[in-house]
Amino acid sequence: MAIFMKTNISFAKRVNQALNDRPLQAALQTAAGRFDAARMRAWEDIDDVSALRHHAKLIKEHTVAHLDTYLSQLVEQVRAAGGFVHFAADAADAQTIVSAVVREAGHDLVVKSKSMTSEEIGLNDALALAGIQAVETDLGEWIIQLAGETPSHIIAPAIHKSRQQVADLFHEETGRVLADADIPTLTAVARQELRRQFLAAGVGISGVNFAVAETGSLVTVTNEGNGRLVTSVPPVHIAIMGMEKVIPTLDDLMVFLELLPRSATGQTITSYVQMVTGPRRAGEADGPEQLHLVILDGGRSAILGTEFDESLQCLRCGACLNICPVYRVLGGHAYGGVYSGPIGAVQMPLLQGVKQSEVADLPQASTLCGACLDACPVKIDLPRMLLAHRRRGVDGGPQTAGRTAKWTERAAFKAYGLVTRHPNLYKMALQAGRVGLKPFEKNGRIQNAPGPLKGWTEQRDLPPLAKRPFHKRKNEAEG
Ligand code: SF4
Repeated sequence: MAIFMKTNISFAKRVNQALNDRPLQAALQTAAGRFDAARMRAWEDIDDVSALRHHAKLIKEHTVAHLDTYLSQLVEQVRAAGGFVHFAADAADAQTIVSAVVREAGHDLVVKSKSMTSEEIGLNDALALAGIQAVETDLGEWIIQLAGETPSHIIAPAIHKSRQQVADLFHEETGRVLADADIPTLTAVARQELRRQFLAAGVGISGVNFAVAETGSLVTVTNEGNGRLVTSVPPVHIAIMGMEKVIPTLDDLMVFLELLPRSATGQTITSYVQMVTGPRRAGEADGPEQLHLVILDGGRSAILGTEFDESLQCLRCGACLNICPVYRVLGGHAYGGVYSGPIGAVQMPLLQGVKQSEVADLPQASTLCGACLDACPVKIDLPRMLLAHRRRGVDGGPQTAGRTAKWTERAAFKAYGLVTRHPNLYKMALQAGRVGLKPFEKNGRIQNAPGPLKGWTEQRDLPPLAKRPFHKRKNEAEG
């Protein structure tokens, strides 16, 4: 199973580990906060960002509603440009296709540039089993490959690593003394190490940010030049995309190119926007001799037409992660899967290759504050879908999503509903709460409360129940 980390640790335990990892939290607060502030500044530069977001939403809505049409057009255009197209129903299919292309081309070393879809299908492990070495060439991806980890953020996979941790990893890999190395030095080390891999590799594997149906162009948006090397130096290029990455036209692409870099990193435009349309043609100076496009379903077609199909509009910009108060203290690894944060909590229970027991609690990892909806460039209503997952759990609905609430939880919410509908019961419950929680009050806060409140007060203090409830004060003020 590729899409989920190989761990036997429960979600609750992973959460506790993350909450007690102070360096992780400091790194997350700084990095996610910086991305988020940069996004807001970048959005302010646009005359009418709301209109632009709305336009982008309409394009995505239309495309998802006519996915079959645009995928057919894309396939036609990629083939017309001289490329090969492969459809993969699931991760295993995609692994087989990629391994076969590499083997048939007679190679055993591939270089990769960032592709969350290849993480989703667990490609590196599958290639290793087939005797093929895969080298990640994005700086962040290479760092986590050396660490033997998975990405903890969609666009900044090593967001959780400190400079010192990176220096240690590079030291282990290269033998160079890097204890006091600054970031430019570390970057230079990575550049030197990776440059020879580009020249030695027979195959380059990349992701796809957008696939333009009208031209068959595969577009990547990156800040590192490795993407260009991966897609143009090795004789074979394999691009892997989820089927929702197709967009109708180049005009539509312009809309997303305005929004994606601003929402992801706060940049007006990224350093490299690359469009690959077919393999190298006669007379062209560079480019691969063969181009293969692998289009992955992986559970996406089953989402179409459901209350979750809005999630297929995702641009993978990471803005919802950066603003999410839950993600900002947990980081991506606590979610356990390839996709984390609010979009991960919505999508992970829906994708193939996921054990429902492992993702059942993810939709609960949200305060439902709505910040993700405000931050999403295509206004994806993540809170609505998180609630839909929770509702399925409560209803005991089809276990394609969400968890089934425990009987204790159902009973507790039933009791809460009863109490809040009866004023006298409500007053009695408040009085009981005031008395019952008194022994746990310290310095005006409730700490280490018992029973169901234990989890709440492990990481935060609760204010005590007011001595004079609001409605009493209101009555006194009016009377
Ligand atoms: S759901 Fe929206 S904000 Fe989150 S990654 Fe996708 S496009 Fe970005």
